[in-house]
Amino acid sequence: MNRTYNSLPADGAPTQHSFTSFHLLGTFFLEPDLRRFGTFTASRGVGAIEVNKKTCGENITKQVTMLLQNRAVFAIGLRMGSTRVMNGPLMDTARPSSDMSDFRKDFSQATRIAIITGAGVSAESGVPTFRGENEKWRKWMSQDLATPEAFSRTPSRVWEFFHYRRELVLSKKPSAVHLAIAECEARLRKQGRSVVVITQCIDDLHQQAGSKHVLRIHGSLLETRCMTCRHVTLNKRSPICPALKDKGSPDPDVADAQIPVDKLPRCKESKCHGLLRPNVVFFGETLDSHILTKVEKEMEICDLCMVVGTSSIVYPAAMFGPRIASRGVPVAEFNLSSTPKTEYFKYHFQGPCGTTLLPALAPHESEINN
Ligand SMILES: [Zn+2]
Repeated sequence: MNRTYNSLPADGAPTQHSFTSFHLLGTFFLEPDLRRFGTFTASRGVGAIEVNKKTCGENITKQVTMLLQNRAVFAIGLRMGSTRVMNGPLMDTARPSSDMSDFRKDFSQATRIAIITGAGVSAESGVPTFRGENEKWRKWMSQDLATPEAFSRTPSRVWEFFHYRRELVLSKKPSAVHLAIAECEARLRKQGRSVVVITQCIDDLHQQAGSKHVLRIHGSLLETRCMTCRHVTLNKRSPICPALKDKGSPDPDVADAQIPVDKLPRCKESKCHGLLRPNVVFFGETLDSHILTKVEKEMEICDLCMVVGTSSIVYPAAMFGPRIASRGVPVAEFNLSSTPKTEYFKYHFQGPCGTTLLPALAPHESEINN
């Protein structure tokens, strides 16, 4: 019996394939070739391809892992339960719905809701992310400064940047979006339902709003980690150390403070005195495996997922929503614009999440108020 699936468009043009029994064991040279089979992820030289069960059929080996020597060359083995791939005519691909009343039905039936949040939620509180041309700190973007290399080369400059971000975050309050998510968690808990927030934000505003079940996959600006003893501490001191007082101006004309390394934040553990760094995941670093294990579990058990305020370009977070969708779970995206992952989702609600998310999370008529 033929199975039909819509390939994930590698070049923007969805192609329909049908195949019967097909074995493929080979080497792929281009990343886009992998995308037609599912979600590609890579970190630290190890890549994985998650085969999308819903779109590709059930006989495909669910997950193929591989070693990736560089971004261009991979060797993968794929075993599929069919032998023929045939390019068919382009057919209408189901587009995500933006019907809020349909979403609300799914919402009313969900008992375990995973809410994945990103920079758009922080933006509701006025927290910049330093990712775009318009959000530079001096002449750099976050990608230039939040790296292990930059920290080891110029710890003073990187600390100035993070000091500025800490002071900024300490001055911000949770937005209506943060509060609605926290309120929803508390309300559903009384009904025996659960909400988990899986966030890429490092500003702790979800916790400040009252969210209890929060997995921070990129760490926290308000925590430090010792480079020597690795001790992690919550630290909301302002300034974090005397030498950083009044430093960290984002003005491009301001010169580096060039603070001696022994005057930067230092570990307070007995006899350690190691250099502290912000407990955030720098670009090029892997995520905390303990947190990722928890995220994996939540992705397996949730029965509704909301992807809020994220451009879905930072891995591995970008594949959380598509992975959940591949189990047949409804996933709704709330974002300013569509993203590379929008096509995977059942729903897409366009606009600032301050506008789109609040009606989505409001009490549903079927909820018993108690
Ligand atoms: Zn230490």
